[in-house]
Order: sequence, then C-alpha cells, then structure tokens
Amino acid sequence: MLDCVIIGGGPAGLNAALVMGRAGRKTILFDEDKPRNRVTQESHGFITQDGVKPSEFKKRARTDVQKYRSVSIKEERVEIIEKASGVFRIQTKGGTDYMAKKVLLATGLRDVLPEIPGIQNVYGTSVFSCPFCDGWEMQADIDPAAKRTGNQKGGRYCGDRLGAIRFFCGTARLRNHSERRD
Ligand SMILES: Cc1cc2nc3c(=O)[nH]c(=O)nc-3n(C[C@H](O)[C@H](O)[C@H](O)COP(=O)(O)OP(=O)(O)OC[C@H]3O[C@@H](n4cnc5c(N)ncnc54)[C@H](O)[C@@H]3O)c2cc1C
Repeated sequence: MLDCVIIGGGPAGLNAALVMGRAGRKTILFDEDKPRNRVTQESHGFITQDGVKPSEFKKRARTDVQKYRSVSIKEERVEIIEKASGVFRIQTKGGTDYMAKKVLLATGLRDVLPEIPGIQNVYGTSVFSCPFCDGWEMQADIDPAAKRTGNQKGGRYCGDRLGAIRFFCGTARLRNHSERRD
C-alpha cells in the first residue's frame, strides 16, 4: 500500500513529490509528460530560474526528487481512480493497479485557444497568454524603439493590461509567421 500517488509531474507534482520524499512517505508520481508550457523555449519570473528551459527545469526538479528513495517516478498516464473502503485504486494506461491512501492531483491546465487560423503554429513563440511570463521579451516588437533607447515600455504595457487582455502578440513576429505561411 502506497502512502500517496501523485498524478502529474510538472512543477506542482514534482514539488509535492519532493516534500513527500522528505517526509519519508512511500509515493509514486505518474507523469504523461505533456506539460502546459511545452510550446515555450524559456520560462520566466520564478526566482533563481528566470529564463530556464522548461525541460531543464523539469530535469533539475527530478534530480532533486530522486535523492529521496521513498519516491519513484513513472512515465505513464493514469486512466482510472476509484475509492472503496477509504483506499484509492489507481489504474494506469498499461492496466497496472496501485493502491494508495492518498491521491494528489497535479494534472495542470489545458489552454483552449481562440479560433484563429494558424494560432497553434505561433502559440508560445509570438502569441502568449501571460504578459508577466513573456511580455518582457516582446517589448521590442510592441515598441520598436525600446531596443534602441532602452525604454521598457513594452514590458510595462503588457504588465499594466493583465486584466484587460487574454492573449497578446509580439506583432512583428506574428507578421513574419504569416509571411512564411503565404
Ligand atoms: C505559452 C506558455 C508560457 C508560459 N510561461 C511561463 C513562464 O514564463 N513562467 C511561469 O511561471 N509559468 C509559465 N507558464 C505557466 C506554466 O506552464 C504553468 O504554470 C505550469 O506548467 C503549471 O505546472 P503544473 O505542474 O500545475 O502543470 P503542468 O506543468 O502542465 O504539468 C502537468 C503534468 O501532468 C501530466 N498529466 C496530466 N494528466 C495526467 C494523467 N492522467 N496521468 C499522468 N500524467 C498526467 C501532464 O502530462 C503534465 O506533464 C506558461 C504557460 C504557457 C502555456
């Protein structure tokens, strides 16, 4: 019987696994490895890791977790969770069953993009959902003078409008993508 099964091996699941390992709890983390930010090149705004590649961040997080022998990581999708008599039965895609006292869901979010032709091709490159994550890098596109003058208006522009916009574009790059498609 496992103390805990964690479903999802992104930052949330891996951090939970680290804490479970340090508490000596027998835990398995299952991860299908389809993180929300898999379209991005760099992740920003997390102190000590600003600009890190998401894959590198995940590698480092796994290294931290693997120091603790009570936790193991399996790259497999969980398909079924059932609870009977206070115990969870977790079944993976491969059909293997595990029993656990607790289940921690860290399965993340899935972005639902607006219906704009071609948006899939540029999401995470020049179209983003989070101004704080990617606005800084886009400032030269929004205000071409920014690079030359050192004016940081673009980053401020994105941050200031967080409540008003859902998706924002680095316009110059989006135009380049359109040209390539035509
Ligand atoms: C374009 C873009 C850019 C971003 N940039 C930044 C940034 O710069 N800075 C920042 O802080 N944040 C950024 N984010 C947000 C960041 O990606 C999320 O906050 C973060 O990934 C959330 O972590 P999580 O562990 O909750 O989920 P995820 O990282 O999505 O991980 C969830 C994991 O659970 C797995 N999973 C789901 N269901 C199952 C199942 N049934 N069985 C097994 N495994 C399963 C998935 O495959 C995945 O690996 C960005 C997001 C996007 C889309």
